[in-house]
Amino acid sequence: MQIYNTLTKKKEEFIPLDPPNVTMYVCGPTVYDYFHIGNARSFVVSDIIYRYLEYKGYKVKYVMNLTDVDDKLIKKANEEGITTAEVSKRYIDAFFEDIDKLKIKRATVYPKATEHMQEITDLIKKIEENSYAYETEGEVFFDVAKFDGYGKLSGKNIDDLESGARVEINDKKRNPLDFSLWKKAKDGEPFWDSPWSKGRPGWHIECSAMSMKHLGESFDIHAGGNDLIFPHHENEIAQSGAGCNGGFAKYWIHFGFLNIRDEKMSKSLGNFFTAREVLNKYSAEAIRFLFNQAHYSSPLNYSSDLIESSKKGLEKISSTALKIKNEIEKGNNTGENPDFNFNNYYTQFEAAMDDNFNSPKAIAVIFDFVRDVNAVIAKRENLSLEFYKNAKLFLEKTAEQVLGILHFDELHAGQGPSLENDLIELLTKLRASAKADKNYQLSDQIRDGLKEIGITLQDSKTGTTFTKD
Ligand code: AMP
Ligand code: ZN
Repeated sequence: MQIYNTLTKKKEEFIPLDPPNVTMYVCGPTVYDYFHIGNARSFVVSDIIYRYLEYKGYKVKYVMNLTDVDDKLIKKANEEGITTAEVSKRYIDAFFEDIDKLKIKRATVYPKATEHMQEITDLIKKIEENSYAYETEGEVFFDVAKFDGYGKLSGKNIDDLESGARVEINDKKRNPLDFSLWKKAKDGEPFWDSPWSKGRPGWHIECSAMSMKHLGESFDIHAGGNDLIFPHHENEIAQSGAGCNGGFAKYWIHFGFLNIRDEKMSKSLGNFFTAREVLNKYSAEAIRFLFNQAHYSSPLNYSSDLIESSKKGLEKISSTALKIKNEIEKGNNTGENPDFNFNNYYTQFEAAMDDNFNSPKAIAVIFDFVRDVNAVIAKRENLSLEFYKNAKLFLEKTAEQVLGILHFDELHAGQGPSLENDLIELLTKLRASAKADKNYQLSDQIRDGLKEIGITLQDSKTGTTFTKD
């Protein structure tokens, strides 16, 4: 299996440190709000990597941290007049509700920063003892200039970084690139005791301390979105290198952004949809299918057209799966067993996923499989139960258990392409052409007529979608 490693900037053969065990750490959410569909892409991609490693027979220990103390949490708590613990409790609960709805398999551990203050302060102490940190008025900073190889992950050069420094300005620092390991609490802020001051840890040190606590000083995979390469992951490497003797993470995997009109979806730009609002309209399977429209490392533009077309694409797979399920339920075993090479599809699916988790290619293999199964079904009156069971098994192992885009238990008649949906789509298109021809009387008639029968059209910049009462 080949994985692209950001650290070495090439695809490498995946050789775990202690096979069949695999240790994996993914940077999780800062729990100050509901997560958006961009964050969801990173969580789903990690989930698919986790599931595929298990498919390969590895025993995976998967850790995703929850950042439950940070400036954004403090701001939210102040705005609402509640504590940061109340803010994090609310959004941690919401996080689990939403990942469950997205059918994300739970990680082995979800460590919280506030529950690892001992490990965090111990690590800072070690970094300080090894002379890679300095204290100024109760604040502790990492001394970047002392650490050889800083910039190795992001490919950045320290001199360029200093001249262009888009880093936090703070006159207590010796160098603009130095970053906080420990922050002194201001009035009204939450704090923990430490040798330096009553305060809280910086964000980067939380991940170094929690990954090493749960996975050891050397572990296999560290992953997160592209936005985390610099400075977050670069700083994690520096801290762990300065405070420990282990090799830290061996493979660094980074995910492309979910964009909206070529711009990163983010809270600060305000161009986001929360995962829960999208889940109110679309199934987890359709959303997961959408995320697999691009390789995990590439950007992907979210739009209503793309989610609608994902839904349609997925219906091709689910309608065949439903057919298979119904045949198995009928239990008729009088038909013939066709000559069908299931192994060939497993081999192709694995070849795609083994090549740096190429899930779009893996989905193309599933589509070929569905097309070929349909062709076999169309040619014969009656097929053996064994054929249908093998077909189900393939879809279960690949589409269900690895990609999570299909769930046999939830398939029921009425799913899959429906005439009703197709007719609504057709009317929506006719309305769009009426509008383009400036025939507003007709376009309004279509919209109002649909409304009367309980179908509401919603126009947006990216197209028209509909909801049913
Ligand atoms: P945050 O809560 O902002 O710390 O982000 C949680 C995870 O979501 C991190 O792994 C980020 O890299 C990732 N992330 C944030 N925005 C996006 C986006 N637009 N597309 C994909 N991943 C993202
Ligand atoms: Zn992190």
